[in-house]
Amino acid sequence: MKILVVNAGSSSLKYQLIDMETEKVLAKGGCERIGIRGSLLKAKGNGGEKVFNRDMPDHKVAIELVLSALQDKDIGVIKSMKEIDAVGHRMVASGEYFNKTTLVTEEVMKTLEEKTFELAPLHNPAAATGVRACMEVMPGTPMALVFDTSFHATMPEKAYLYGIDYDDYKKYGVRKYGFHGTSHKFVSSEAAKYLGKDISELKIVTCHLGNGSSISAVDGGKCVDTSMGFTPLAGILMGTRSGDIDASAVEFLARKKGMTHAEIIEYLNKKCGVAGISGVSSDFRDLLAGEKKGNKRCSLALEMFAYQTKKYVGAYAAAMGGLDCIVFTAGIGENTPTVREEVCEGLKFLGVKFNKRANKANGGRSGGKICEISAKNSKVKVLIIPTNEELVIARETAELL
Ligand code: AMP
Repeated sequence: MKILVVNAGSSSLKYQLIDMETEKVLAKGGCERIGIRGSLLKAKGNGGEKVFNRDMPDHKVAIELVLSALQDKDIGVIKSMKEIDAVGHRMVASGEYFNKTTLVTEEVMKTLEEKTFELAPLHNPAAATGVRACMEVMPGTPMALVFDTSFHATMPEKAYLYGIDYDDYKKYGVRKYGFHGTSHKFVSSEAAKYLGKDISELKIVTCHLGNGSSISAVDGGKCVDTSMGFTPLAGILMGTRSGDIDASAVEFLARKKGMTHAEIIEYLNKKCGVAGISGVSSDFRDLLAGEKKGNKRCSLALEMFAYQTKKYVGAYAAAMGGLDCIVFTAGIGENTPTVREEVCEGLKFLGVKFNKRANKANGGRSGGKICEISAKNSKVKVLIIPTNEELVIARETAELL
């Protein structure tokens, strides 16, 4: 079975074609600048790479180009579109309308468009445009919506509710939904496999630390709490997002800066986080370089990031009543040894014995492999696990079929 995984943004469309028997990526690539002059597709397959400079006024043309690249004479990996058994679409927010991977039908699309767009105005409409384009170009091919939020659907009410009027929660669906679910699901199940344990026996904290960061408590394979909230703005401070902040401080800041509601939310999403604290960059490579040169605000941003991550790990160990494993994943989690060290060195009291040498040896990339960075006799295992959200989307789609 071959599954096409599609991740559509407002002007981009990334894809992977995955063979489910071997779970190997047969081809992958991405369309850039859809609807903007100078659009192009960078595609890989069959051991080669090609750039297609084509006008892509919309997502329909983009998906047509992807399909022709998959059948290209040089880098093609299939002979006909019919070889694609299904399409799995990455979707960000589900609200309470979808709590699992869902087969695409006209009715499902209507609910998605009418009910969830306002929950994730930057992501869901763009992703839905990708789904609609595929429906047009590939009629008859089964398609699934795989939500970032569904892994978190198992959270108990006490974890996902905010302390607001319960009737307002019911009326407006204002609660914690969580994000990066496919990543948290993937790395927690990989951790169990690596440790040779049944996931039902394990209490795991998964730290997805990337430009967007979230931390989850996974008890017995089920998410019981997560740091992102109603939107991805909540939790620890991130590349450009503030993370948790007192709601009254938001109103105060907006008044002082003369900003509208929309402007202050944009500010909290785009101008804050480690970029705001350091005044230098949202990228940890720049922060580390700044710290080396003695830039105190870069050091402060790094310190805050590790401190807040550590606090969540401790809180989630308490929430689960124990801790067997901590997983680091995503751009920062996989590549920044100093962050991992600062988080783990503060967790000795929980039974974390850290192996500094193994952590440093995997200083750059962990090379796509799982690395154990706790000492042999550590009660709590610490692992670096490269995430693979596309594979989860493909697996979920295959399972649904
Ligand atoms: P992601 O959102 O998972 O793609 O993560 C992207 C972020 O990972 C970047 O913004 C950087 O902050 C961080 N990152 C990527 N590569 C490295 C590296 N080699 N060293 C430190 N941080 C890195």
